[in-house]
Amino acid sequence: MKRTKVSTLLSTPALIGTEVEAKGWVRTRRGNKHVQFVQLNDGSTINNIQVVFDMNLFSEDQLKPLTTGSSLRVKGLLVESQGKGQTCEIQAKEFEVYGSADPLAYPLQKKGHTLEFLRDIAHLRPRTNTFGAVLRIRSALAFAIHKFFQEKGFYYLNTPLITASDAEGAGAMFQVTTLDVENPPRDEEGRVDYSADFFGKHTSLTVSGQLEGELGATALGEIYTFGPTFRAENSNTPRHLAEFWMIEPEMAFYDITDNMDLAEEFVKYCIKYALDNCADDIRFLEQMYDKGLTERLNFVVNNDFIRLSYGEGVKILEESGKKFEFPVHWGTDLQSEHERYLVEEHFKKPVILTDYPKEIKAFYMKQNEDGKTVRAMDVLFPHIGEIIGGSEREENYDKLMARIEELHIPMKDMWWYLDTRRFGTVPHSGFGLGFERLVLFVTGMTNIRDVIPFPRTPGKAEF
Ligand code: ATP
Ligand code: MG
Repeated sequence: MKRTKVSTLLSTPALIGTEVEAKGWVRTRRGNKHVQFVQLNDGSTINNIQVVFDMNLFSEDQLKPLTTGSSLRVKGLLVESQGKGQTCEIQAKEFEVYGSADPLAYPLQKKGHTLEFLRDIAHLRPRTNTFGAVLRIRSALAFAIHKFFQEKGFYYLNTPLITASDAEGAGAMFQVTTLDVENPPRDEEGRVDYSADFFGKHTSLTVSGQLEGELGATALGEIYTFGPTFRAENSNTPRHLAEFWMIEPEMAFYDITDNMDLAEEFVKYCIKYALDNCADDIRFLEQMYDKGLTERLNFVVNNDFIRLSYGEGVKILEESGKKFEFPVHWGTDLQSEHERYLVEEHFKKPVILTDYPKEIKAFYMKQNEDGKTVRAMDVLFPHIGEIIGGSEREENYDKLMARIEELHIPMKDMWWYLDTRRFGTVPHSGFGLGFERLVLFVTGMTNIRDVIPFPRTPGKAEF
C-alpha cells in the first residue's frame, strides 16, 4: 500500500471511508486504557493527523515505543473526526515502529523550548512546529523567487563561489587555500607565496555575485543569481550571518527607476506568494510569536513604497528631534535605528532611499551630475531595516576608472570586469536581496539564526 502524506489526508475529503497508510513522527501520545491518541506529523504540513488506537486491538506493551519523537508506519481507516480541531483521523488497524526515541534522552520530549535553546540543537530543531513552519516558508519563497524571474524572462546565472577579486568591498572575506597554513611557502621578502596555492593566486569565498552577474546581463539581457554568499562579519547582530543566500538580479537597459520598480514588484510578489501558499504556517507563527504578522505582510503587498533621496531622509532624521545612538548628518552611513525610524515611525511604510553620498557606497555605482552622490537604492523594511541594496551601475569606462583610481582599488585581478565597459557598454542596474532577511520578514522571526537551517556565525559551525 502506498503511503499518503498527512497534508493530503487532511485535505482530501474523498479519502474518508477508505483505508490509508501514513508515515511520520509521533508528536504526542495520550489517552487511557480504552483508547490512545497519537498526533502524527510527517513534515508535509504543520498540522498533525490523529491516529486512534482502540486498546481492544492493541496492548499497552505494543504502544510503549510510541513516545514523542519516535517514527512509525500506520495503516487504518480514515474517518471523519469527532474531536474538535481536526477534520479526520486514522483508526489504526496495524502499525510498525521504525525507530524509538528514548524519552529520557530525546531533547524535544517537552514542548516550549526557547529559540536560544533550539539553536544549540540545530540538528533536531527542524522537528519542531516553529522550524517546520519556517523551513516550509523558506522553501516556498525560494520557489517564488525562481518563478517570478523565470516568468519575466530572466535567466538563472550561477556565479562562482571562489573568487580571486577582493575589490568589491561588500564585506570581509574568508580565504580559500590549500597551502599549509602552519608552514606556507614564502618569497624572498618573507611574504606568503600564493603562486604556489591551488589557483596560483590568493582566493576567497565570494561576498557577492554581482560583478560576474554584470557579465551575464551584458550578454543575456536580464539575469538573476541565487546562491550562497560569505562574509566574515564579526558583527554578531540578529541580521547578519557569515554564510547567507543572496538573490542578485542584474539587468541591461534598466535605469534606477526601472530597478526600483522591479525591486518593489519582486518583494511584493514573494510575500504574496507566501500569503497564498503558506497560510497554515504563517498563522501558526503569528499566534506563537508575532500577532501583527499577517496584517504587516498584507500592508506591504498592498501599499506603494515611499521613494525619497538619502538627503531628504537625513533631513527628516535630523528634524525628528529623536536621540539616536549614532548621530546622523549628511554623509554618515545610516544605521538600522535610522532606517527603522524612517520606516516604522515616520512613513509607516517600506521606503526606498536613493542617491547616497558616493563615499559610503561601492565604486561601481553610477555617479550623479552633482559630483557628490551616486545612483544607489536601498529598500528599507519594517522590523528588518535594509532588505535590498542596489544601484544603477556606472557604465562609462573613464568615469569608472577615475573612481577606481581615486579609491586605490586593486584592479589587477579585475580587468575582465572593465571589459564590460570597453566592449558594448550599456546602461544597466541591479540589486541584491538577502534571502534570509526576506524569510525573517515573512516569518516574523526576530533573529536571522532562526530562518536558516544551519546558521554560520562567529564561533558557530557545528551542525
Ligand atoms: P548591511 O548594511 O545590513 O550589512 P550591506 O550594505 O552590507 O547590508 P549589501 O552588500 O548591499 O548589504 O548586500 C545586499 C543584501 O544582502 C542586503 O540588503 C541584505 O539583505 C543582505 N545581507 C548583507 N549582509 C548580510 C549578512 N551578513 N547576512 C545576511 N544578509 C546579508
Ligand atoms: Mg554589511
